[in-house]
Amino acid sequence: MFWNKIREIEPYLQPQGEIPEGEYVVSNESMLHLSAVTACILCGACVSDCTVLEVDKSFLGPAALAKAYRFTADPRDGDEHGVSRDRLKVLGQPSGMWDCTRCNMCVQVCPKGVAPMDRIMAMHDQAIEAGYGNNNGARHADAFIESVGHTGRLDELRLPVKTVGITNIPALLAFAPVGWRAMTHGKLPPLIHKSVEDVQTIRKLYRRLEQ
Ligand code: SF4
Ligand code: SF4
Repeated sequence: MFWNKIREIEPYLQPQGEIPEGEYVVSNESMLHLSAVTACILCGACVSDCTVLEVDKSFLGPAALAKAYRFTADPRDGDEHGVSRDRLKVLGQPSGMWDCTRCNMCVQVCPKGVAPMDRIMAMHDQAIEAGYGNNNGARHADAFIESVGHTGRLDELRLPVKTVGITNIPALLAFAPVGWRAMTHGKLPPLIHKSVEDVQTIRKLYRRLEQ
């Protein structure tokens, strides 16, 4: 399973821009940045402890996704601007980068400081910047940030609606069993979502981070 997932991300450079007459020239800075990811020794510790892989074997997993980032962050990979569009599109599909729940386990257990979760989150940004933000994962992240940035807390009732889209009736109906269990166990979030005290400070911080 481990090696199949590594193979799945096509772990080799795929330049699509104009081929230079000489060698590809890249900055020291970008190579130094990549060296933190190429430090991976493929030990599989992150894969063993990934909380998503535990329940969903189809998930690409932290090692393969960190390896994918090694290419999406390489200025030689992808188009003439170093944007790995094709890769990011494929990695954004179900079982890919958006299925990570950001539990941080892979960061904690990695013996080489590769921090796979941080690489996955960086790929989220790359994917959105490349125009691949129209999916559940990207919408979920946007809704999460918007809710916390505006009210200081997560609006758990509207988060799933904003994630799948209000017109996506089949996906919304799929949440019904979870909603029912939450209701019968007294865990249903409040219908009226209130802001935290001193929400202005949160909003100010949010605006600063947005800049
Ligand atoms: S942060 Fe994501 S990839 Fe890492 S262990 Fe958790 S779910 Fe798996
Ligand atoms: S734990 Fe670290 S070194 Fe080991 S496979 Fe995962 S990313 Fe690579």
